[in-house]
Amino acid sequence: MSQMTAAIARPREAEDRALVALACRVMAVAGLFDMHGHISLRDGDVAYINGRRASRISVTPAQVAVVRVADGTVVSGEAPAETALHLGCYRARPEIRSVAHFHPLAATAFATVGKPLITAFNAGAPFGRSVPVYDDPDLVRNDEQGRAVAKDLAEHRAVLLRGHGVAVVAEEVPSCVTLSLYLEENAKRLAYAMTIGDPQPYTDDEIRRVAASLWQPFVIEKTWIDGQERARRAGALDDLV
Ligand SMILES: [Zn+2]
Repeated sequence: MSQMTAAIARPREAEDRALVALACRVMAVAGLFDMHGHISLRDGDVAYINGRRASRISVTPAQVAVVRVADGTVVSGEAPAETALHLGCYRARPEIRSVAHFHPLAATAFATVGKPLITAFNAGAPFGRSVPVYDDPDLVRNDEQGRAVAKDLAEHRAVLLRGHGVAVVAEEVPSCVTLSLYLEENAKRLAYAMTIGDPQPYTDDEIRRVAASLWQPFVIEKTWIDGQERARRAGALDDLV
């Protein structure tokens, strides 16, 4: 395939690469990504994902890998070892356009001790009653494992990976970053509340009403802008235009 044909096939490649690099840095500055963690964006038949070697706080658009969703073929760059997790979610959920996988302290702790990450704070409402758990701590490196994660994710917005981390899915990148922040915030608040007493789970009606108030485009936009601004003030966006 010639360069020209490739450019026509992926007309938004430059902006898709830039958005993934930006989101990756935002997740790093937010403390969700350490040396590990990846966020991807599906556009057409490919997914853009931060490259496996690049530091999450300084990944460049050129270091973003491109992977074909249907068969996992790496079109360019070095895809992370657990790209299969992203592909499994994309294949199972056609509406999903962004996936994040990372190892946050609080949310992962719930799956580690086998306590459900319930919704007892507003930040948890977009996830429903509780977040499902994928019960295998091994890295998600192949299609079979990716399929198994997607099966446990089902129609939810996140799944905990026991002893390992989490996966978050959304219709676009800003929502994926927002949900990632909410997931860990809910887990932190819940863990703190459990040191005082027994958290009171929201009823289905409370979850529905709070989610309807909270899961709004302007809240997602506000969170995404705030995440970018924190990264900018931290100097992590200096070389990104
Ligand atoms: Zn992992």
